[in-house]
Amino acid sequence: MRKECETFSKFLRGDAAGIRVGIDVDGTAAMTNHAIISAYNELKGTTFTVNDYNNWDVLESKVRMPHDVYYELYNKLWLKEPHRIAPAANPELMARLMGAFDVSASTCRPEEHRAPLSAWFEKNYGFVPKIDIVRSSSEKLQKGYDVIFEDAPHFIEEHSKVKSAQKPLVFLITNPWNQDCKVPERVIRKENLDAAITSLLRMQEQLSPQKVAR
Ligand SMILES: [Mg+2]
Repeated sequence: MRKECETFSKFLRGDAAGIRVGIDVDGTAAMTNHAIISAYNELKGTTFTVNDYNNWDVLESKVRMPHDVYYELYNKLWLKEPHRIAPAANPELMARLMGAFDVSASTCRPEEHRAPLSAWFEKNYGFVPKIDIVRSSSEKLQKGYDVIFEDAPHFIEEHSKVKSAQKPLVFLITNPWNQDCKVPERVIRKENLDAAITSLLRMQEQLSPQKVAR
């Protein structure tokens, strides 16, 4: 059995429904940066694409967007124009994930984003998950998730420092801002969220003693 499957003792015990999955929002479940780049182009008359956002620090990326402008656009989009933020996964796949596991959206953001975020999930995915608002990567790591879908390089770095054998399995969703991120133990890189969800569902099917008919 591959090393990452150690995380799945719950699968092996036939307890897949008890597996806790944390899905990051920006850059993972939601194509937030695509919307921010688009809004920035409108503001500045530039023609950047999301591929130009090639460093986690947007100021250090090809876009060279000042941080205050980034957060201004971030808040404007989530609070006033959330229709501009596209979902990153196929809603049917997301629904299968919700049906199979205990899923929470896990995100660093101000509390005032909670209601618009709930409405965004309802509109784009057809359900509202539990929403865990955290303040940092380390807090996210302490939430007790078995599996985390994530895009942030600093989260991967924080995860690599955790010594516990029980630390969560992480699916790193490839984006231009994390392409240089190393992939340490118990992290699996996937090209998008659909591929990551499919991979987790496949693990469940392969590992669970009683396969669930779908
Ligand atoms: Mg993110």
